[in-house]
Amino acid sequence: MRIKKFLLGLLILAIIATMATPVWAAPIEDIVIEKPVKNVIILIPDGTSLEVATLSRWYNGGKKHNIDDLACGLIRTYSCDAPIADSAPSSTAMSTGHKSSTGFVATLPDANTMPGLEPLDPSRRRAPVATILEAAQLAGKATGVVATCEIMHATPADFTAHSSNRSDYDTLSMQQVYQEVDVFLAGGKKFFTPEGRKDGNDLLAVIKENYQIVENTAQMHEVKSGKVWGLFAETAMAYDFDRDPVKEPSLAEMTQKAIEILSQDEDGFFLMVEGSKIDWAAHANDPIGMISDYLAFDKAVGVALDFAKKDGNTVVISAADHGNSGLSIGSEWTNSDYDVVPLSDFIDPLKRAKLTGEGIEKALNEDRSNIVEVMAQYYGITDLSEEEINAIKEAAAGKMNYVVGPMIGKRAKLGFTTIGHTGDDVPLYVYVPEGIDILSGTVENTDIARYMEKLLGLNLEETTKKLFVPARKAFEAKGATVSFDTSDPKNPVFVAVKGDIEIRIPVNTNKAFVNGVEHKLDGVAVFDGIGTNYVPQSAIDLMQ
Ligand SMILES: [Zn+2]
Repeated sequence: MRIKKFLLGLLILAIIATMATPVWAAPIEDIVIEKPVKNVIILIPDGTSLEVATLSRWYNGGKKHNIDDLACGLIRTYSCDAPIADSAPSSTAMSTGHKSSTGFVATLPDANTMPGLEPLDPSRRRAPVATILEAAQLAGKATGVVATCEIMHATPADFTAHSSNRSDYDTLSMQQVYQEVDVFLAGGKKFFTPEGRKDGNDLLAVIKENYQIVENTAQMHEVKSGKVWGLFAETAMAYDFDRDPVKEPSLAEMTQKAIEILSQDEDGFFLMVEGSKIDWAAHANDPIGMISDYLAFDKAVGVALDFAKKDGNTVVISAADHGNSGLSIGSEWTNSDYDVVPLSDFIDPLKRAKLTGEGIEKALNEDRSNIVEVMAQYYGITDLSEEEINAIKEAAAGKMNYVVGPMIGKRAKLGFTTIGHTGDDVPLYVYVPEGIDILSGTVENTDIARYMEKLLGLNLEETTKKLFVPARKAFEAKGATVSFDTSDPKNPVFVAVKGDIEIRIPVNTNKAFVNGVEHKLDGVAVFDGIGTNYVPQSAIDLMQ
């Protein structure tokens, strides 16, 4: 009898224990967030198909990744007019909730043509749309972006700038300078200097006025609060395996520092972290680069999770923007025995490599006379063919990973289907504090933005209306005459005049000058490239 009672007690306890933390997993329509969370951290492993995670896990001895327990769904990555997306539209979908077109950064496309999409209102062609970072900022939250590429590269730009041309670094970087983001930690210093820009502007000087600039690991660690801009490399930062820890912090260290600073804001924060170069290594079919930066990415996820678990009011989301390379563990095309060999056949060749292809290029001397030695010492390949030696000798500058990557891939019995992006769904990972619904199922990439919007209690549509008003129409409605001053063609200025009031709004800045007196705007002014200037409502309000 007693034992029965005891067992019954245990059973009740067990039921109560499982009931104590009900987790509601649902598609976006069914998610209800009654009390918004304070902070959201989204971590994006760029161009990472699922098999990269699998291969990296075996490389790590089968040990679970930090991210593994968070898997909860699949994301469709297609863009508005094609089944394969590049980073620009796919991260735009996650940052704004709108699908877009190849090369488009936080901007609506020309048309939506993929099945199931609502047609685009033609008057909204190429209109900038608010990002979750901008919405969080308007709500008083601290914001930050961490990446290992140059900061104006597509994914970080998708959260902080607007242009229909991802290659227009001048425009994207100028907007970033005036976005008033609290923490930027990445590469790309060159593109803020007069020498590295087509417009010749010295944006480094502007950054210096508003930020603590840090350029190496020690400098970054010295900063404890305030606005900080890390410029750790002229262009992209190194792959983690090639990284000099004195010169460049790891992605995990940058994530830690960003959280340390942003979490001081009582209103909460939004942080985007990108493992940028998993994608670049995938393009090169360089498995070492992919593993290097996937593992570095997972450590950053660990940092974000540690904070979120302690904080209790933070959601952590992770999703790749799209797949890349069609990596397969095993390839019949190069190794007919691959399906019967032991794990070590795949992993040992990879384990012997100490650098990525990019690191190999740096380790070679100028006349590339030490190919055999370098490939043995740092890449673990001791059986180079004459043909392979010649290919390494002739590899173009900056392209070594495209040459040596496939050499190790073949020895590790890996397969690749392309050196470009792929159309696969990618896994969704979410960590929530108690009582918050988890987005799950097979969802659209745009649902990520919708989910973050709900989590933080923000409204992207309203934010777009507030930040991106077609300027001509709005000023003319107030009786002003408008013009576009292109006397300095590289720095055009939108001008509205009414009576003795003249308002000048330099494109890509958050400034308006009313009869010469400077006013700060809620966001940046954007020219869409096809005839329309968009300015924040706060600029329109300056005209009486
Ligand atoms: Zn990408």
